[in-house]
Amino acid sequence: MNTEKRYYDFNTYLKNLYGCRVQKITIDAGMTCPNRDGSISTGGCIYCNPKGSGTGAYKKGLSITDQINAGKQALARRYNAKKFIAYFQAYTNTYAPTDRLAAMYEEALAIPGVVGISIGTRPDCITPKTIDLLASYTRDYLVWVEYGLQSAHDATLEKINRGHDFNAFKNAVEITANRNINICTHVILGLPGETRKQMLETAEKLADTGINGIKLHLLYVVKNTTLADWHEKGRYKCLEQDEYVDIVCEFLARLSANIVVQRLTGDPHLQELVAPKWALEKARTLEKIERKMTEKDLLQGCRIP
Ligand code: SF4
Repeated sequence: MNTEKRYYDFNTYLKNLYGCRVQKITIDAGMTCPNRDGSISTGGCIYCNPKGSGTGAYKKGLSITDQINAGKQALARRYNAKKFIAYFQAYTNTYAPTDRLAAMYEEALAIPGVVGISIGTRPDCITPKTIDLLASYTRDYLVWVEYGLQSAHDATLEKINRGHDFNAFKNAVEITANRNINICTHVILGLPGETRKQMLETAEKLADTGINGIKLHLLYVVKNTTLADWHEKGRYKCLEQDEYVDIVCEFLARLSANIVVQRLTGDPHLQELVAPKWALEKARTLEKIERKMTEKDLLQGCRIP
């Protein structure tokens, strides 16, 4: 793990690989999602707003190249970053014909300083052909694919209208494994109806899937979503900050020490956020997680039998 933190953080992983600060640049490539375009449903996941978690950059007319060049400038100024990973974040970035995907990915990889790509997608939107395409980049670039799982419990996935089950995730991991492609999994804590025990079971179920990375997100409520409606009607109650901190620490304790932790909470936009307001206190939440892990003497993986 070779990290000063109590978990294997992404910056340490990248620094070990490249010897310098590497930053991700978020890209909105103008994609859509089968859970929005009617292939699976039109409503989307209950917490997703019509922007599909994106920046809206594509609609403003910014190409992939424009977005990466703007990101490079900002991140070089802020972090002195010299190398970059193009992160296709908004919507479902494998949901298109292979030639369009190749054009998108290769536009990003051609830009000086870009050392890799990270592809955000759904586990039911990956094909052997797409995996072959991604695998073809791995000789020269770092390649991550990020599968949105959110929970390992099918009843929860149904409740949040994900449109896929845990098996879909396991199948995606199976076809991605052993191709030099790194697999990151997104999990959301605080999903409606889930207990602390169920959230920690998700960590346990991920333990033997062979994933390489994880992103943990707090479920927060944003405007123009089904969840906002549930929240207003009292059908959904957000986690408290200390509850979230406790669950994150125990979650990390159940993850193998070689899984890279890419994120420990989300980044809501102030204008879009409904609740909880503490979701805006990212630095404080991260400090609390570090402190709690030290107090409880927890290390990533320490609760694995
Ligand atoms: S899969 Fe992603 S983009 Fe699609 S509806 Fe769910 S959160 Fe939104």
